[in-house]
Amino acid sequence: MEPDCKGSPLRPVVDRARCEGKADCVRVCPYDVFVVRRIDDADYAALGALARFKSLVHGRKTAYTPNEAACQACGLCVRECPEQAIRLVKV
Ligand code: SF4
Ligand code: SF4
Repeated sequence: MEPDCKGSPLRPVVDRARCEGKADCVRVCPYDVFVVRRIDDADYAALGALARFKSLVHGRKTAYTPNEAACQACGLCVRECPEQAIRLVKV
């Protein structure tokens, strides 16, 4: 498939039970797809007990993808995430 400047048909999805919020994805993404911030209350409530504990230990920080439409599916974030918390999924 030819590269498309308007974006790709793939988007990154973060597994919040795995994410530790240390922002490697923010640093490596060439298209500024990610931000790391405090986890939303609803997302926190949806975690299992162990993942909630882990979230507290990491200051309730997690990665969100406010600029996901800019994703070019380069795969850098998937490769660099130390927790294997990112998947690319079809939109
Ligand atoms: S690199 Fe992975 S573990 Fe780190 S903040 Fe991003 S998604 Fe979370
Ligand atoms: S696949 Fe590439 S462009 Fe898409 S979010 Fe990950 S690092 Fe950014």
